[in-house]
Amino acid sequence: MNLELQASLDELKTVHSSRYINMIREFCRRGGGLLDEETGTVVSPESFTVARLAAGGAIKAVDMVMKGELKNAFVISRPPGHHASRAHASGLCIFNNIALAAKHLIDRFSLNRILILDIDAHHGNGTQEIFYDTDEVLYISLHEDPSEFPESGFIHEVGKGEGMGYTVNIPLPFGTTDSAYWKAVKSIVMPIIRQYRPLFILVSAGFDGYFRDTLSELSLSAYIYPKIFQAIMNSAHIISRDRLVAVLEGGYRTRFLRNIIPVIISRMAGGEAKIRDNRPFFNMEAQRMAEKIIEEVKETQLRFWEL
Ligand SMILES: [Zn+2]
Repeated sequence: MNLELQASLDELKTVHSSRYINMIREFCRRGGGLLDEETGTVVSPESFTVARLAAGGAIKAVDMVMKGELKNAFVISRPPGHHASRAHASGLCIFNNIALAAKHLIDRFSLNRILILDIDAHHGNGTQEIFYDTDEVLYISLHEDPSEFPESGFIHEVGKGEGMGYTVNIPLPFGTTDSAYWKAVKSIVMPIIRQYRPLFILVSAGFDGYFRDTLSELSLSAYIYPKIFQAIMNSAHIISRDRLVAVLEGGYRTRFLRNIIPVIISRMAGGEAKIRDNRPFFNMEAQRMAEKIIEEVKETQLRFWEL
């Protein structure tokens, strides 16, 4: 294990409070245990180091892309990060890997327009909170109905202050299949990306929306993921000088991760690897509800974007 990759304490402090970082360190040092009862987030004595490695991997990836050492990167790390807020661990997340990567781009490279596209099945409440009041990061999330968890990510949450209009939430109903999901990507996500013109694209790449994943209620097929990445790569090529880093978030069907991640990496490397899999049943009721929600999101976001 290359411990040099660990995010430094100063790097962690760009997103998390010192008190929180110390608490995690002490909690792990004393043997770990249940860190967040509500979401069953547990840590072991090694978790402080491992979480710092995950964060450090994301930071290193964006750094290498900025320096031209890589065209793009997919960071395969755990624990995930998008539920971790400034001072709270949640949903299996300790440090917010993608937020730390975005902060690195802002602080080290003075980028002031960064896109975080979150395709995990759950709303990235931590990421949203961290960048809620800034226009330097546009946070767009597609996720399942967040009423039960994490109770944020509703349509009306659009940012505040300078960040007004720079948070876009697309909460889709349970049972949503590819066609409604893709409609949301095409009619909301893509037009907003074209208008924002990000200097760097980050993807919170969660694969738990897959229909066989038991931790979410979305019903996406394997085919949606290469399709989304292809669209994002095209945007990155036209708008962001190909600067694209994806960071693994959720996805708990390990056999699926084993199949889908190499396909995504192949595509990012210019290859043409394909996935073969069964498709979930189409859910008409979910489709109708999803289309209604897509229209509501558009109406809300029309204040900020041409849609
Ligand atoms: Zn998730």
